[in-house]
Amino acid sequence: MATSPAKDPKSTGSAKSVAIIGGGVSGLTAAYKLKSKGINVILFESEGKAGGKIRSNSENGFLWDEGANTMTESEKEVGKLIDDLGIRDKQQFPLSQHKRYVVKNGKPELIPSDPISLIKSSILSTQSKLKLLMEPLMWKPSEQNNSAKVSDEFSKESVRSFFQRHFGKEVVDYLIDPFVAGTSAGDPDSLYMPYAFPELWDLEKKYGSIIAGAMLSKIKIKGSDKGEKNTSVKKRNTRASFSFHGGMQVLIDSLSKEVGGDKLKLNSKVLSLAYNYEVKSPSGSWSISCDTKDRGTKNLTRKQSFDAVIMTAPLSCVQEMKFSVGRSPFVLDFLPKVSYLPLSLLVTAFKKEDVQRPLEGFGVLVPSKEQEDGLKTLGTLFSSIMFPDRAPSDQYLYTTFIGGSRNRDLAGAPLHVLKEIVTADLNKLLGVEGKPTFLKHIHWKNAFPLYDKDYNLVLEAIEKMEKNLPGFFYAGNHKDGLAVGKAITSGSKVAELVMTYLDNKS
Ligand code: FAD
Repeated sequence: MATSPAKDPKSTGSAKSVAIIGGGVSGLTAAYKLKSKGINVILFESEGKAGGKIRSNSENGFLWDEGANTMTESEKEVGKLIDDLGIRDKQQFPLSQHKRYVVKNGKPELIPSDPISLIKSSILSTQSKLKLLMEPLMWKPSEQNNSAKVSDEFSKESVRSFFQRHFGKEVVDYLIDPFVAGTSAGDPDSLYMPYAFPELWDLEKKYGSIIAGAMLSKIKIKGSDKGEKNTSVKKRNTRASFSFHGGMQVLIDSLSKEVGGDKLKLNSKVLSLAYNYEVKSPSGSWSISCDTKDRGTKNLTRKQSFDAVIMTAPLSCVQEMKFSVGRSPFVLDFLPKVSYLPLSLLVTAFKKEDVQRPLEGFGVLVPSKEQEDGLKTLGTLFSSIMFPDRAPSDQYLYTTFIGGSRNRDLAGAPLHVLKEIVTADLNKLLGVEGKPTFLKHIHWKNAFPLYDKDYNLVLEAIEKMEKNLPGFFYAGNHKDGLAVGKAITSGSKVAELVMTYLDNKS
């Protein structure tokens, strides 16, 4: 979508209206931003609750998250949103968050978080440690790293191949593989660098070495921050994970409250979108029809027309919608099928006396290699060790992930099978004995879109929709990254693009 700087966002008339489809964190952020600029917004959400992949729940003294468990403030839009919403005092940081474990030879080992602990660590062999320490030698002066010169061989590269070139096989097997499984349910062979790790991909193009590049760009950012007045942002560790007192839902509830109950149309599944225009008039408008479960009405066409539409629903849902421009259907047959990764979460609690080797820290990840020895889960978060107020004081609460690209079928296994798998793995890793005192199962059929080799086709199709549908914008985790912070940034940026569009239209 072509953009030019907004003339004066506040001057954009309050008569303008924007429809936002999808009440996940990206749609809510976009709605909140536009509303704060005086735009009339209506947000359509198909479910009875806003939040999408962010959802907290509580029962019998337990509090747990069913989607995203934590987020970071790596993107500046996140910090700004938290401040604007006034929820800074509700942020909750996990205890011992830097203690994270990975399974090696069947046992949890602490992941080294600095060069000294790396040298001491038993996760990697001496050879791998040396390769890691030598990686900065891949640094090249920037003129030798012109992206135009990058050979075809590396114009698209799998996550495995990229990290193996830089750090060796063992680092991929014991650090990268469990990391990508824990953050995207993917695996290093299916995920592709330009889409899964665009920042690192660019860093290599610029500096050759990832380690040297990361250090150099950190120094550059520090230098450019020198004149910055607000030092509180600089002092914060923006890479630290956090949640909120009350779970991730606090973020969603506070966004929903700001958007306003009358603007947030729950149980409203959008079925079709029509762009109507008069031949002689330069500007047209959108009308939307949806299925509103609560009123038992089907295909309710909203009388209100909209100047622009922001779509944040997953592409698999967009594919089911009907589009038209004028009297002609706008057929979405160019949208490729997105591959989704399924995931099951098992939230379990055990009496403290039944856990023989509780570990202090964030959680433990299981590399694929360790699954060969019988472990079947992807990893477990130590939910109540991170956040002690989330379980009665005599119990430990855990959140375990099963499925992903490694074990697609297992994600959909019946509860009794999953329960057996989780208790067996927790027994091996933490010495958990007996049955859980508390158990919840959440199955996400389409937990994450897979950023695979052909994901450029998905991005190109989104671009085509934006180009050919006037006033149509797409945002969210199918376009701009999977993490909550990326979805917030996506929602925030699309709101700016819409403001510019509306300004140019008026
Ligand atoms: P979504 O949250 O998917 O929102 C899209 C919304 O569109 C949904 O509410 C859906 O109901 C709605 N919708 C669909 N069709 C229609 C329609 N026809 N009409 C109206 N509405 C429609 N990220 C992290 O940073 N940290 C984590 O710890 C983390 N853990 C995760 C764990 C799990 C199990 C999952 C699934 C994700 C996790 N993520 C995590 C990723 C992150 O939560 C998501 O990428 C992010 O929340 C996506 O936000 P979104 O707004 O782009 O999309």
